[in-house]
Amino acid sequence: AQTPVKVTVTGAAGQIGYALLFRIASGQLLGADVPVKLSLLEVPQAVKAAEGTAMELDDCAFPLLSGIEITDDPNVAFAGANVALLVGAMPRKAGMERGDLLEANGGIFGPQGKAINDNAADDIRVLVVGNPANTNALIAQQHAPDVPAERFTAMTRLDHNRALSQLAAKLQVPVTEIKKMTIWGNHSATQYPDLFHAEVGGKIAAEQVDEAWLRDTFIPTVAKRGAAIIEARGASSAASAANAAIDHVFDWVNGTEWTSAAIPSDGSYGVPEGLISSFPVASRGGRWEIIQGLEIDAFSRERIDASVRELVEERDAVRALGLI
Ligand code: NDP
Repeated sequence: AQTPVKVTVTGAAGQIGYALLFRIASGQLLGADVPVKLSLLEVPQAVKAAEGTAMELDDCAFPLLSGIEITDDPNVAFAGANVALLVGAMPRKAGMERGDLLEANGGIFGPQGKAINDNAADDIRVLVVGNPANTNALIAQQHAPDVPAERFTAMTRLDHNRALSQLAAKLQVPVTEIKKMTIWGNHSATQYPDLFHAEVGGKIAAEQVDEAWLRDTFIPTVAKRGAAIIEARGASSAASAANAAIDHVFDWVNGTEWTSAAIPSDGSYGVPEGLISSFPVASRGGRWEIIQGLEIDAFSRERIDASVRELVEERDAVRALGLI
């Protein structure tokens, strides 16, 4: 039998964790023939709740689930890990300054990066979901000098999926008709969902919608969808975030011709090298590649630059705080 793949999930007792773990255990993260071993990392006060979730996982009798470990020690959680989903983070509380938020998250993602560096398997792949995801991924990466930098990624796939669904509804087409969607930049309100390269029925999407809808409805709806869900549901999105994490890792491992992911920049499209920024990407041979050669019009340029500027500011802030 195949050796199980070890998947570590942090913040495992949280909302997203609850929506994520059952799908991993059922085979949706890596494939229906890949056995998995789960490691649940939580803060000490949430370990008991994680144990409860583990009891439910047991009760599903998933054929592919070969074991569950629960711990509050990152060195244990990441020992031999092949995939790490970093979901647990410090949420922004009312009145919190950005510096405080970054500092609190530095205290989480720095040590986790080091624990990954010291303990994970050679093929470790890291996806950061916890916000501010791009900068948290950068912090973790900077504490893991022995892990190839490209193995640290942050999630913009939920933004990508939201963009697909908004455009499909507008044009009354199935989401499968839409190709080449791209989210650029930071997973934040400055992100840029790009319809100038997206295609519907083989034609550019931006040419099939009016400019006012694109600018004043589509972009803000995608960027502010998280707040709209909180407003409607009384709780933040969790199942859709978990779904996007599944999509990201599945495509990273199994390949795709085009999606969006925040990966370390190689300087493409004017994004400073090293920033973990969202790009149009393909995955080949288990590696993300930035799709090259796209022409960037002035409207897109301005928006990509604004989001990248925010990433530069976050990077400079965590540098100034000594977190990287
Ligand atoms: P959730 O599971 O709902 O969210 C976890 C993180 O994912 C948050 O940072 C959240 O950001 C982020 N996120 C990213 N994209 C989305 C999205 N589309 N919708 C919603 N959230 C998104 O949080 P809970 O509070 O339910 O659970 C967090 C758990 O993490 C707790 O159990 C806590 O104990 C644990 N934790 C564990 C740590 C560890 O393992 N060392 C460290 C810190 C916390 P945002 O805040 O912006 O919504």
